Amino acid sequence: MMRWFDDWYVVEDIAQGVFAIGEPKYEQLNWSYLLEGEREAMLFDTGPGERNIKPVVDSLTKKPLTVLPSHLHYDHIGNLKHFETIAFADLPLLRSFEKSGLIEPPYDYVLGAEESRAWINVKASRWLSVDGTIDLGGLSATLLHTPGHSPESVSLHIPSRNLLLAADLVYPGPLYAQVPNANLPGYLETVLRLRDTIAPVTTILCGHGEAPDAPAPRLYHADIADLASALTAIRDGKATPTACDPYEFRINSRMTLLASKASFGAWQAP
Ligand SMILES: [Zn+2]
Repeated sequence: MMRWFDDWYVVEDIAQGVFAIGEPKYEQLNWSYLLEGEREAMLFDTGPGERNIKPVVDSLTKKPLTVLPSHLHYDHIGNLKHFETIAFADLPLLRSFEKSGLIEPPYDYVLGAEESRAWINVKASRWLSVDGTIDLGGLSATLLHTPGHSPESVSLHIPSRNLLLAADLVYPGPLYAQVPNANLPGYLETVLRLRDTIAPVTTILCGHGEAPDAPAPRLYHADIADLASALTAIRDGKATPTACDPYEFRINSRMTLLASKASFGAWQAP
């Protein structure tokens, strides 16, 4: 059940120790996720920062909290400044953004100028190993590197709950592979790996919703398989875009894929 926390945030109980926090009044309909184990809690994404998300999190858990951004786009990191302990995936790219103890990414990894949103330098308190297990006490997640939408994107896989928190890798609607640093060959590699490793019963919880009154956005294993098929067809020159500049490809009834010429990388653009 989805309930209003205040006049901005909604909360949905997903599974034991798993909460979705939505922002239905924000035009991009962002969803962040809170995991609460017996010892620790983790917030995956923080929204655009239009409102402080910390009171919502504080109402749901009293456990020591680590915040992990799925990637650096402005609409996921807007509330990092309100938290003490911020973790990043231990990727060479993210390490390269650390200067004098603070994370300072170049603008094209953050974007957001059109909404006048800017990155605020934060300290990386923890570096989490890729493919490592995050043990919160009775609730564990594996940190997966899932590039495609952006090279530093990560997802959290929670096998005990049959959940994958995928942020902007997949969601119902137009997938953004037309943004700077998005890469279709990387996208395909990521979704092939997920298709072949996550259980078919997995529910995928996404970073952007479909409609203001809809619950937390969910996709399924079949959607990952459809995206893998669509990207394979695009790679092989067998997919016809329904629009150009940006290119738009149909994936299935719930998703399309937007791409720029640059996102084709080593592939041939149509
Ligand atoms: Zn994004």
